[in-house]
Amino acid sequence: MSQKMQQYIDEAEQALLHTYNRYQVVFEKGDGVYLYDVDGRRYLDFVAGIAVFALGYHNEEYNDALKVQIDKIIHTSNYYYNVPAVEAAKRLKAVSGMDRVFFTNSGAEAVEGAIKTARKYAYLKDGRTDHEIIAMHHSFHGRTMGALSVTGNPHYREAFEPMIGNIRFADLNDFDSVAKQVTDKTCAIIFETVQGEGGIYPATEDFMKKVRALCDERDILMILDEIQCGMGRTGEMFAWQRMGVRPDVMTVAKALGCGVPVGAFLMTEKVGANSLKAGDHGTTYGGNPLACAAACKVLELYDKLDLLEHVKKIGGYLQDCLDSVAAEFDCIETRRGVGLMQGLVFDRPVGDIITRAMDKGLVLINAGTNIIRFVPPLVIDRQNVDDMTAILRESIREVCGGR
Ligand SMILES: *Cc1c(COP(=O)(O)O)cnc(C)c1O
Repeated sequence: MSQKMQQYIDEAEQALLHTYNRYQVVFEKGDGVYLYDVDGRRYLDFVAGIAVFALGYHNEEYNDALKVQIDKIIHTSNYYYNVPAVEAAKRLKAVSGMDRVFFTNSGAEAVEGAIKTARKYAYLKDGRTDHEIIAMHHSFHGRTMGALSVTGNPHYREAFEPMIGNIRFADLNDFDSVAKQVTDKTCAIIFETVQGEGGIYPATEDFMKKVRALCDERDILMILDEIQCGMGRTGEMFAWQRMGVRPDVMTVAKALGCGVPVGAFLMTEKVGANSLKAGDHGTTYGGNPLACAAACKVLELYDKLDLLEHVKKIGGYLQDCLDSVAAEFDCIETRRGVGLMQGLVFDRPVGDIITRAMDKGLVLINAGTNIIRFVPPLVIDRQNVDDMTAILRESIREVCGGR
């Protein structure tokens, strides 16, 4: 590492609140599926800013759209209409089959909005203020108090108790555990269609269908968090779309703006008409022209690049490659995932493997202590997967031994 890079890192540690144990690298720019650090060193990126930069870095059409919007107007207010927000909302409705959109600045805020929607929906039905939400163990929904309250990781919650209250936890893919938590106060069941941070656990079609039927029967809102697994990562625009069920409320963020902070929560017409009303919810920045110009161009480029078809093919290839790596090493327990959202589960912490990969010019990230997560830009090709696999093998061999 150059002195210059070391100095940036030292200065960062003097100024930024230490809420992350950061990797010892300062990234400066990106191009396609590669990142460059301040020393000009190139890295193959299989993280994409944690499932964010789907289009790859430095996509000219995307960059130009942002520049054009910056020169027009960056921000107005939600008290006025703006063209990019209309366009983005129309596109988002079209690809999701949902009916109403509220733009947020982040994933956590989208989850907050979804929770408020569910509480208001139930409140309008019976006037009670003691409604319950069922969430899943090992889930991750964000770091704000509401989102944290439905996050099934006690370690993230403990110091910040009390949570918002009336949250019950069940196990993903164990329908009976969900049914057991249902009471006459239940207003929503929330889960990620594919759990991300919690270890890349896809919900099964059977589970999804049973939850859907339960929610229909009792007029409970089914909220799907598609913040990580949505936006094409599984080969469908949204992961639930391959399961033949539609949620009542859905959250999206991460890849929606491809780096410009924008999220959204969406709902059906029925929920929209019977929940949040004028004055019930708001945001200063959410859905501003710059954020929505980004979302708009992202959705347009998904179409133009036929990204979903690409992900289906390249996701299958990544899966095959990871399966063969898993078969080679005793220290790997299994592979899990869908499309370009994959995890390799190890019998030990993976930090050392990730650091070694970084030294060899490959950016990887964990999900939990023992899992390496693969969430690359959606535009990766076979050569990128082969290059990644070669470095991965070498890094695993150095840590675990073996062939
Ligand atoms: C990242 C993530 C969030 C939180 O999004 P932020 O933009 O970090 O607030 C919520 N849910 C899921 C599934 C996520 O992966």
